[in-house]
Amino acid sequence: MADAGYSNGYNYQFLEKRKITGWIPVFGKFRPQVDGFDYNKETDSYTCPNGKKLPFRSLEYSTEGKPLKAYWTTRSDCATCPLKQKCIPKAGTKRIVKTIYEEEYQRAYLR
Ligand code: SF4
Repeated sequence: MADAGYSNGYNYQFLEKRKITGWIPVFGKFRPQVDGFDYNKETDSYTCPNGKKLPFRSLEYSTEGKPLKAYWTTRSDCATCPLKQKCIPKAGTKRIVKTIYEEEYQRAYLR
C-alpha cells in the first residue's frame, strides 16, 4: 500500500511483474476512458463517434520522457465528417495519446 504520490505506470507494472497487488490510488492526468471513443484491445484501436478508426500509429515521449502511445484518424476520415466542428474544429485529424501503461492503470483504477 502506498499513497497517490507513487501513482505511475512504471510502479504499477513493477508490482504486477512481481505478482504483488498494488493498492496505490490512481492520481494525476489518467482518465479511464475517452468520452465518445470506444477502445478495442484486440485491434489496439479506438473508434470515434462517426465510426472511424484511430489505430495505434506511433510510440512517442512526453516532455518528461514518459513513453506514450499515439492513435489518430486520417485527414480524409475527418474532412467530410458532420461532427468535425464539435470534435476537432481546428485540426485535420483526431489524436488520442495514452500512457503505454494503460492496462496497468486500468487495473489499478478498478481496484
Ligand atoms: S471529426 Fe474525425 S474523429 Fe471526430 S467524429 Fe468526425 S471522423 Fe470521428
